[in-house]
This record gives sequence, structure tokens and C-alpha cells, in this order.
Amino acid sequence: MEKLSGKTALVTGSSRGIGRATAAGLAREGALVAVHYAHNKQAAQETVELIEKNGGSAFAVQAELSVPEDIPQLFRDLEAGLKERTGQTTLDILVNNAAETLLGGTAPEEVSAEQFDKLFAVNAKAPFFITQRALGLIPDGGRIINISSALTRVASPPQTVYAMTKGAIEQLSLHFARHLAPRGITVNTVVPGITDNGSEIFKIPEVREQMSQVSAFKRIGEPEEVADVVVFLATDEARWITGASLDATGGSLLG
Ligand code: NAP
Repeated sequence: MEKLSGKTALVTGSSRGIGRATAAGLAREGALVAVHYAHNKQAAQETVELIEKNGGSAFAVQAELSVPEDIPQLFRDLEAGLKERTGQTTLDILVNNAAETLLGGTAPEEVSAEQFDKLFAVNAKAPFFITQRALGLIPDGGRIINISSALTRVASPPQTVYAMTKGAIEQLSLHFARHLAPRGITVNTVVPGITDNGSEIFKIPEVREQMSQVSAFKRIGEPEEVADVVVFLATDEARWITGASLDATGGSLLG
């Protein structure tokens, strides 16, 4: 039986990678999913088609999250899409997944103010204001799931700023969990480790071999393995979990 039948969800950054797998997983459980993307319209359309091919329902919404002015437009399109398909604008599940990193990393000494501001805008500021704006649409018993990174637990100097933004999103979960508990809304964090999101780096055998050593299982994670944890948190079975961080790193932090 579908566990999210009649529910609606917004997954930011679901044109590809973990976000796409999450959108597909939520739709598989019966949720209508808004597939958010920034630039890659075709990839977002592919996520929608993948969901529809499997009997689910989805529609795409666009917003560049480094630009705060795009968030009102994102919600106008989200509300219109929900209204058209359900007759209402209720949003049961919000997954703050979209994020940017400094590709390949940058030594802390070389990070520019612009790079710093962009990462914080997309990875920390946008999730806060998306959550703030979504609160009017999320009913009692709703779900908010924020995607962090194992780099909040393991030092990686070239990713200092990225890790700082992920520290920020974990705080969003902690404090909103308390804030929204009276409404039965749970707010949790999922912490992925190295996960094959389809980017070029995962196609280089030597790099793959190196990355595989990080997990206790000695392999790279698949997007579905993170997505399954997000989907679980969205279900009624996870109603007693809030303010928690769920490790989805394949034991990368076991030491
Ligand atoms: P990804 O494949 O790089 O995809 C990123 C998604 O975010 C895309 O849908 C992209 O949209 C969107 N996005 C990027 N920049 C954006 C912007 N400025 N405004 C709006 N949307 C933007 O992502 P991923 O690797 O699956 O990662 C998903 C989440 O898991 C992120 O929060 C990431 O930090 C976290 N994570 C990933 C890993 C990993 O190894 N993959 C490890 C730890 C944590 P477009 O397609 O339109 O560009």
C-alpha cells in the first residue's frame, strides 16, 4: 500500500542526483511531487517523466535560489501547480535538498567573498526562507526534511565554506523542530556521505576507488540509498522522530 497517498511534496534540486531519487521515491509512495530545478529544465522534465512512467504524478517548478526574489515566484508556480492538480495549495512535505559546492574544493585562503555569499545564499539562506514561506501551506502533521552532509562531522579544509552552510541547515532543523512541534510537524536532517549523483567525477575509476574507501561498506552510495531515508522520514512511521539527524553515509563516520 502507498504510504503517502494524497500527500503533496516539494523537493528542491530534484532535477538530478539525490533530489531526483527523493522525488521518485516520494511519488512511488503516492505523493504528488513538485520537482524544483534551477537551470536544467530538461533534467527536471526527465524526473517528471520518470515519475509519470512509474504511475506517479509530478510537475516542474523553477527558481535560482541564490536570488531571494526567485522564492516568491517559486511559490506562485508551486501553488498554481498544486491548485490545478488537487484543488488546494496544501504542501505536506518539504525537502530542502538543493545545494551548491565549490567544485573540487578551494583552499580556505582562496575563497572569495562572492563564493562565500553564493554558497550561503543557496545552501542556508534559501532553505530558511523557503521553509518560512512554506509554513502557511504545511498542515499540522507535515514534514520538513533538510539535507546536510557528512562534512559537518569530518574535516575537509577545501570544503570549509560548504560545510559551514551545512552546519547552518542542521540548525534550521533543530530550532524549527521545537518551533513546529505544537503543530505535529516534524523537522529532521538527513546526512549523506559520498553519493554518486551522476557527475563526471564519479566516472573516473581511480577517484571512484578512493571514494569507495570512505564508507564502511567500501563502496559509493547510490542516490536511492539516501532517498529511502528521506521517504521514511516523510511517512507516518516516522511521526515520533523530530529534530534528529539521520546518518545516510554507509557508515562513513564509524572511524
Ligand atoms: P546535484 O546532483 O549536484 O544536484 C543539485 C541540484 O540542486 C540540482 O537539481 C540543481 O538544479 C539544484 N541547484 C544547484 N544550484 C542551484 C541554485 N543556485 N539554485 C537552485 N537550485 C540549484 O546534487 P546531489 O549531489 O544529489 O546533492 C543533493 C544534496 O545532498 C545536496 O544538499 C548536497 O549538499 C547533499 N550531499 C551530497 C553528497 C554527494 O556526494 N552527492 C554528499 C553529501 C551531501 P539544476 O539541475 O537545474 O542545476
